[in-house]
Amino acid sequence: MNELILIKNGEIALKGLNRNRFEDILVKNIRWRLKDLGAFSIQVLQSTIYVLPKEPEYFDFDEAIDRVEKIFGIAGISRALVVEKTIDALCKEAPAYLSPQLSEAKTFKVETKRADKHFPLLSPEISARVGGAILSAFPRLKVDVHQPDIVVRVEIREQGAYIHAGQIPGAGGMPVSSSGRALLLISGGIDSPVAAYMMAKRGVSISAIHFESPPYTSERALQKVETLCEKLTPYTGRIPFFRVPFTEIQEQIRIHCPEELFTVIMRRMMMKVAEKIAEKEKIRTLVTGESLAQVASQTLDALHCTDAATPLLVLRPLIGMDKTEIISIARKIDTFETSILPYEDCCTVFTPKHPKTKPVLSAVEKGEAAFDFTPLIEKAVAETEFKMIR
Ligand code: ATP
Ligand code: MG
Repeated sequence: MNELILIKNGEIALKGLNRNRFEDILVKNIRWRLKDLGAFSIQVLQSTIYVLPKEPEYFDFDEAIDRVEKIFGIAGISRALVVEKTIDALCKEAPAYLSPQLSEAKTFKVETKRADKHFPLLSPEISARVGGAILSAFPRLKVDVHQPDIVVRVEIREQGAYIHAGQIPGAGGMPVSSSGRALLLISGGIDSPVAAYMMAKRGVSISAIHFESPPYTSERALQKVETLCEKLTPYTGRIPFFRVPFTEIQEQIRIHCPEELFTVIMRRMMMKVAEKIAEKEKIRTLVTGESLAQVASQTLDALHCTDAATPLLVLRPLIGMDKTEIISIARKIDTFETSILPYEDCCTVFTPKHPKTKPVLSAVEKGEAAFDFTPLIEKAVAETEFKMIR
């Protein structure tokens, strides 16, 4: 049995002149995600991408479809049978191949797309003949053209004929890396991995930066963040990961700055370090998992003070979301269980008793000026370690 996977483009189909560029990126992403499943070729025809395994009997279709479901830029996915391009073959193979679905259904219809205009029969005739063959194999089935349980699809293309029954929804969005790159500030919490997912969905390629404060934070806390990144890669692709030693900066904040401003100043320092790493990586956008009013450091005033620490664009894709909405995405992308593991984050280690919920930028800048952090920021950047997470 010879099968293939049909992938329908999502929003890319609308992109007019740029369409080829988006399509190329999507094909590259698909190729990359499936490459260890066996040899295959890819063809693109009229907004459909065909993944054709070279040795279908050894190709893990279930795993492949599972992976393709997580690739952004795709509207729908079908697994289809490759059939000899004759009406007899179509009539013989359709009932046999779709037998599992057809034996569960009460009603069906056949729809034919005849892209190869040399095929001797017209679309309605093909549908009628294949429908007839299905009815004789499953006499209890009825045709329902309005609301059938199953739509049997026949495609007659230049390169072959295909049969399948419906498609499963793709992940939507835009192909990752079609919208440029951003640097995600990732903690071990629930929110920042979800922020990565949201940005990847709009085509952004994600790099990640994590601040750790040993010995206040442990090796296990770091491991947890790396695990979160690994869990994101089916959606984001590989993630360049930067780990920054943050202890000294935090200790100096504690010594020199007003306690109620700890959190906002710490967040500003993170922005300043992240900006320097981004600059080296030629990235101009930062992403955080902040959500408005979730905690004291996420009021509009606090966010304003954080934002003012860097000229870079800072995106907060979760800003208008409730915790329950964020958690439901975290569960869907399987980061939730890891995120709730109880390892300390550098933020929780130095939490002030009464953080200011309405910090004023001039006061924050004044509090920060009590110490020259520039050399420590440079040092943290210099000591940053890099790792590629796949
Ligand atoms: P999360 O669930 O992502 O930890 P949170 O609701 O706990 O978010 P905070 O801990 O206040 O909120 O952090 C706000 C944002 O700051 C995080 O979403 C993340 O983008 C960034 N951040 C916090 N701690 C770190 C860290 N140790 N390393 C990198 N980024 C961090
Ligand atoms: Mg957190």
